[in-house]
Amino acid sequence: MAKYTDADCRLCRREGAKLFLKGERCLSKKCAMERRPSIPGQHPNTRRKPSEYQNQLREKQKVKRAYGLLEKQFHEYYVEAERMRGKTGENMLSLLERRLDNVVYRMGLASSRAAARQLVNHGHITVNGKRVTIPSYSVKVNDVVAVKENKTQKAPFKAVKETRVVIPKWLEFSPEKLTGKVVNLPAREDIDLNIEEHLIIELYSK
Ligand code: SF4
Repeated sequence: MAKYTDADCRLCRREGAKLFLKGERCLSKKCAMERRPSIPGQHPNTRRKPSEYQNQLREKQKVKRAYGLLEKQFHEYYVEAERMRGKTGENMLSLLERRLDNVVYRMGLASSRAAARQLVNHGHITVNGKRVTIPSYSVKVNDVVAVKENKTQKAPFKAVKETRVVIPKWLEFSPEKLTGKVVNLPAREDIDLNIEEHLIIELYSK
């Protein structure tokens, strides 16, 4: 499968927004968006006012990159969201938020979505007691997401017990037990990314 291999911070600089792709570094002074927030490239300040299409494209790229997806995967979320009742943009964000790798990240078990994806891929995470190795697995209400019992003493999880992150209200999490539960499906107001999702829908509806 194709994979993005360039520097993650370039993606933030390109989108002009912090996408929180590198864990603790994103909260430190080393963050490239703090030190050099200009668009990457030779002439970052000579670009013209963006067109409507460019605004739509940038918004789509921002969300796609924040969740670490490739174009085909991201478009599939749009197609699924369009089939659902309600607003397509909100449905799409809710589907993205329900990905298992995102849930692991939101619970604070990993410092970034990329690190969370690795935990899932490596079989460290269970859903309702069964090991799940698919990062795109979509959680449901009452699903119990936990660190596999024989993995709880591993270094990344020991640190979780001492670190406190803000858990979104659609999730519950016990740092002592390294176990969480989906108490609701994520609503638009639960998703803290600064996104104008209607621009993405306008782009895909053309
Ligand atoms: Fe983006 Fe994090 Fe890099 Fe800052 S440190 S530019 S938020 S990936």
